[in-house]
Amino acid sequence: MLEHDVLVVGAGLAGMRAAVAAHEKGANVAIISKVHPVRSHSNAAQGGINAALTDRGDSWEDHAFDTVKGSDYLGDQDAIEIMCSEAGAELIRMEHMGVIFNRDDEGKLGTRAFGGQRKARTFFVADFTGQAMLHVLYEQILKTGVRVYEEWFVLDLIMHEGRCAGVTALEIATGRVFVIRAKTVIMCSGGVGRLFEPSTNALIVTGDGMAQAYRAGASLMDMEMVQYHPTTLKGSGVLITEGARGEGAYLLNSQGERFMKRYAPNMMELASRDVVSRSEQTEINEGRGIDGCVLLDCRHLGEKVIRERLTQIVDIGRDFAGVDIMKEPIPIRPGMHYIMGGIKTDVDGLTSVPGLYAAGECANVSVHGGNRLGANSLLDTVVFGRRSGHHAADVTKDMDWPKLNIEDLAGQAEDSLQKLLSRNDSGERWSKIRHDLGVDMDKYFGVYRDERGMQTLQRNIQNYKDRYARVAVQDKGRVFNTDLIFTLELGFMIDCAEAIVAGGLERKESRGAHSRTDHPTRDDANWLKHVLVTRTPKGPKLSHLPVVITKWKPEERKY
Ligand SMILES: Cc1cc2nc3c(=O)[nH]c(=O)nc-3n(C[C@H](O)[C@H](O)[C@H](O)COP(=O)(O)OP(=O)(O)OC[C@H]3O[C@@H](n4cnc5c(N)ncnc54)[C@H](O)[C@@H]3O)c2cc1C
Repeated sequence: MLEHDVLVVGAGLAGMRAAVAAHEKGANVAIISKVHPVRSHSNAAQGGINAALTDRGDSWEDHAFDTVKGSDYLGDQDAIEIMCSEAGAELIRMEHMGVIFNRDDEGKLGTRAFGGQRKARTFFVADFTGQAMLHVLYEQILKTGVRVYEEWFVLDLIMHEGRCAGVTALEIATGRVFVIRAKTVIMCSGGVGRLFEPSTNALIVTGDGMAQAYRAGASLMDMEMVQYHPTTLKGSGVLITEGARGEGAYLLNSQGERFMKRYAPNMMELASRDVVSRSEQTEINEGRGIDGCVLLDCRHLGEKVIRERLTQIVDIGRDFAGVDIMKEPIPIRPGMHYIMGGIKTDVDGLTSVPGLYAAGECANVSVHGGNRLGANSLLDTVVFGRRSGHHAADVTKDMDWPKLNIEDLAGQAEDSLQKLLSRNDSGERWSKIRHDLGVDMDKYFGVYRDERGMQTLQRNIQNYKDRYARVAVQDKGRVFNTDLIFTLELGFMIDCAEAIVAGGLERKESRGAHSRTDHPTRDDANWLKHVLVTRTPKGPKLSHLPVVITKWKPEERKY
């Protein structure tokens, strides 16, 4: 029988950090991932990871305040204090594991400026920080001997006597279904970026774990908080790192004006992401854009800085936009990038479902609130990945194994796959529904939203559900059946879409990334609270929780 004290779903930064931590505590740990670990989406992270190191004259309280303000006061301040105060030790830990961060002229760890922060506290490895961290953590996994179920697809969480007791999973190479029993499961399955078209996210980022937790009864929190990044390439949506603006790149409108001076006179291009994206969209909407875009100008940074620190951007500009960034500005627009919302957890990663933990982008411990600061996500993955791993391993010490009927569970999972595989061909493919849904999400849930648009989206989602119930898998084989995998992923995406739009309609104010043209101001009197969505047979059920305020009273945000 396949069984582990702690089973981690996901081999991105959160998952591998959680597994290393649980292993340190002596637990029998395994990781399961639908792709090889170093192909996880964390690989794409470019700009860096934040930490306030005291030897630079920085303080974790300053980092925490910038994060609270960046969150538009929706972040829980107890969780933010933990993340920021533990950041320095976690960064040094990553360095000691082997991440070769860039150095400054004195040979110390170098920093770059990132948006919404008053100090340069972003540590980086050129513009491939995520890749560097992911490879180092994978080396740690190999060192520990933690079992990795590589290219295994989690189908569902197993619930037994009110607890999460493992997963059912498909071995992609063979098409065989397995039950993996676990005393605790840590969901680290990443975000839901590809629900939007276009998106900066990889094709594998489909919200599987959020939907599985939602189906198992966990609450999703603040799902309406979807981040549009200010600099994504026209058309493809490929990300141009905030590191470019951190190094000093300008944003220009069609008149060659650095328009941010009118929206954020102090921080200019380095105001928080929600503010910069709204400013760009306003320029475009008011006719000062160029073909639906504004321009990012790196020319004045000089070839040395660009080649040393923005290596990938040179290639991305050339390969995806046909632009030599040393000679010309790049056309960019705000594009879907990240979800602040996710499975609600406490500061040790525990969700509302006993036995189920969550960390990383699929989770919401509420350190990002209404708007995540650049370079705080990598920090979130490693700090709360570690905390979840430690906690989950500790609680398993005195736990008995859940008594599961393995054959029954495997049989049920196999039956539902067979049902899907044997459906009659309706003529519609998953790809068409996924594309239409993504375009709709971008249209009605973009930088600006309103009641009418979100209601239209809600009706359309119901229609996508009906279409999904009829969609057929054309490939009937079992070996590497990507047609089947993509179809299953679409089901997860639709559940996430339902929760996102339910949250969006519920929050009748503008806060952080949730900018409503019909409720244009922040309303602390009524909405300084979290929106929770829970699944019921009748549809999403909404409830609220107060925001945890420790030191910083809400103020007007100015940059
Ligand atoms: C282009 C880009 C650049 C970014 N740059 C930065 C940056 O510079 N700094 C920063 O702080 N943040 C950055 N971010 C955000 C950050 O990279 C992510 O939020 C973070 O890496 C997510 O890590 P994760 O471990 O939660 O999930 P991921 O790295 O997405 O890992 C998810 C894992 O879950 C597995 N999985 C999912 N579903 C299943 C399933 N059904 N069965 C089995 N396995 C499954 C996947 O295989 C994968 O291993 C960036 C994001 C993008 C898109």
